[in-house]
Amino acid sequence: MGVETLEPYDDDNIFARILRGEIPARPVYEDDYAFAFHDINPQAPTHVLVIPKGRYVSWADFSAKATDGEIAGFVRAVGAVARELGIEEGGYRLLANAGPNSHQEVPHLHVHIFGGKKLGPMLV
Ligand code: 5GP
Repeated sequence: MGVETLEPYDDDNIFARILRGEIPARPVYEDDYAFAFHDINPQAPTHVLVIPKGRYVSWADFSAKATDGEIAGFVRAVGAVARELGIEEGGYRLLANAGPNSHQEVPHLHVHIFGGKKLGPMLV
């Protein structure tokens, strides 16, 4: 029996549909590389998801296949989102689940940004 996998990329996943404007989202930021929107089920006063515009399933897929330009653009976008949200000074946490062991639910890479309060210790 093979290992459970999220690949290949599913063009009908919920974040692909949000990117295409087929499902509404509360946008925070957009540029050539990334789109950011509020999580539908926030786990902190600020809980935003940042997704690349390219078709990447997970951090593993993105880090292996994206161009250097896409990677740089995405990383800069995550920083820009935190700045735009006004949480840079107070601090924030980034989290990206990658693959079956991580409990990744949506098979389009997303980085969670948590902030707006003093966060507790990391839980695994
Ligand atoms: P994961 O567990 O894959 O890292 O996180 C998926 C996140 O996507 C969850 O925090 C969940 O609340 C969020 N989410 C799932 N469906 C939607 C949706 O349709 N809209 C928005 N804005 N967030 C969603």
